[in-house]
Amino acid sequence: MNPRQHNVHGVESDLDLRAQLADLQREHRALLQQHELLQARHQAQQASTEAWLHQRTRELEAEAAEQKKAETLQRVFYRIAERAAAGLSFYDFLQTGHRLLGELLYARNCYICLYNAERQTLNFPYYVDERDGDTMQTDDVPLRRGLTEFVLRTERPQLIDARRFLRLQALGEVTEATGDLSFTTWLGVPMQMRGAVAGALVIQSYEAGVHYTESDADVLAFVANHFSSAIERYQAIDALHKSEHRYRTVIENAGVGVVVVQNERMVFGNPKLASIVGHPLDYLLSQPFDATLHPDDAPAMIERHRRRLRGEPVEPHFSFRVITQQGEVRWLDLSAVKIEWGEADATLLFVVDASARVQAEQAQRVTLQKQVELNDTKSRFIAMTSHEFRTPLAIIHGSVELLRHYEDRLPLDKKRQSWQKIEDAVDRMTRMLENVHEIGHAEGGPLECRPAAVDVAAFCGLLLEELKSLMGAACDRVAWSVTLPPAGRACWLDEALLRKIVGNLLSNAVKYSPDGGELVFSVAEAGDQLVITVADQGIGIPEQDQASLFKSFYRASNVGPIVGTGLGLSIVRDAVDSHRGRISVASAVGKGSRFVVTLPLLPHPPAHAGPDIAASGEAA
Ligand code: ATP
Ligand code: MG
Repeated sequence: MNPRQHNVHGVESDLDLRAQLADLQREHRALLQQHELLQARHQAQQASTEAWLHQRTRELEAEAAEQKKAETLQRVFYRIAERAAAGLSFYDFLQTGHRLLGELLYARNCYICLYNAERQTLNFPYYVDERDGDTMQTDDVPLRRGLTEFVLRTERPQLIDARRFLRLQALGEVTEATGDLSFTTWLGVPMQMRGAVAGALVIQSYEAGVHYTESDADVLAFVANHFSSAIERYQAIDALHKSEHRYRTVIENAGVGVVVVQNERMVFGNPKLASIVGHPLDYLLSQPFDATLHPDDAPAMIERHRRRLRGEPVEPHFSFRVITQQGEVRWLDLSAVKIEWGEADATLLFVVDASARVQAEQAQRVTLQKQVELNDTKSRFIAMTSHEFRTPLAIIHGSVELLRHYEDRLPLDKKRQSWQKIEDAVDRMTRMLENVHEIGHAEGGPLECRPAAVDVAAFCGLLLEELKSLMGAACDRVAWSVTLPPAGRACWLDEALLRKIVGNLLSNAVKYSPDGGELVFSVAEAGDQLVITVADQGIGIPEQDQASLFKSFYRASNVGPIVGTGLGLSIVRDAVDSHRGRISVASAVGKGSRFVVTLPLLPHPPAHAGPDIAASGEAA
């Protein structure tokens, strides 16, 4: 405002005042306009700030929600992975996965489908649906044109509402959908396993207010990814278990024993092994591997085992013996191979019971041995008969010829002599044949032993007399030294067997002492045994013949012209066996022979057995 001067003249002053007022009014209006402008500007600015604030707040809110969602996603994925490794059963894992999925999405209805490309079928290891209930077939479902198959076929997530469903039906993409189809939205995502679509994870809503979105499809696809890798692992473990189970079943039911030996201990054995080795499996596994081996076989087995581990060539198949818990010796056949067991060297052994085979082999050997012996006996018999029968036959022949041609001219005593010769020769042959018969009889089984009370001294006296009368002058060549038990002393013995034993030993001693010498014959009781000794100073027996003396028809190489069939000592052996006694011989060529027989004595008749004791035929 301009400074105004007021004069004293009134008119002039009034005009001035009005002008001034108008100025002031103008100024006021201008100021007012300016104020309104500023106010409007301020209001506009405030409005934009508010809008920005609103916008920013919304943005921040959205960011926070995203963040929370991401956090939830991360937590859920972590939980799924962690549960997959927690050793749950497959179904329990899927159920837990379903619960965790529910933390991300509305997932009251959820199923997992696995596709078997080889069989062209679907399996539903997990199926929860509030409407379908338990009526759905879940195993080996043949492929058809349903919603699940649509996901598998397209290999993409599929979000399907009622409208899209109708369209897919119209297009012929989905013509065989099953279950309750009144869903509001159905969301299925494929699951990749081993680089191919091998299943689908599906959720569906029947709620009017729940519609799945594309972003839900993303979340479900993520979850499906986690499920697939877990399922892959479950399937691998399952396959491993199955193959392990298969091997275990094969091994445990194998007809052969299977053993793994490591660090000289058994670290694995199947049940069959226990029955073959004849010890409980836990015992075998707790002992060094050679614990049950026969001591004669153990060193070779251990050596072989070590050589195999050193990689040296070792015969992979061999036989050995074990001793069972009951102390029975068993033959086993074994095949061995070096393997790795728990990343260390070990031996895998297959064991079979070879007892039957070894027994058969042994029986075969015995039969063969018997056959050989029989052949030997036969040759010895032929040699003996052709030799020993020739002499008496020649005597008979000569005497008969003599009698036929000169009967009328021969004096009576010569005739009688010839008859006597014939009779002696026939007697000799008869005795030989009797011995042959006896041996043939004994070969069918042991001689019968019928013990009775025998007065040994009286019996031996009679026998000596018989022998002397039978052998005549030969008996006088030797100097007899006889020691017998006191007369009247009864021993419980089989008299017939005793006769065979003593008779043959004495006749040999006389026969094989062509130059005489002392003949010791002693019978004495020693404790519960009767000891019979027959010793001579005759021709003796070469060492190489001594082991065969008791075989039928066997004669030592030094008999020369002394006649004999080689049967006497085998009859002695049979008689001693039947009496459960023993016989031994000591001899030197040119010096003489000593035979000692020991017979067990029973002072009283055995009350339980009666007078007859069937002998066991135990070898002397
Ligand atoms: P036999 O059947 O007539 O008795 P053998 O006397 O020849 O005939 P063994 O009594 O079985 O038959 O004797 C077998 C063989 O043992 C005899 O041929 C003989 O070689 C040898 N031998 C047995 N006793 C004596 C002995 N005291 N001194 C020497 N050799 C003997
Ligand atoms: Mg004899």
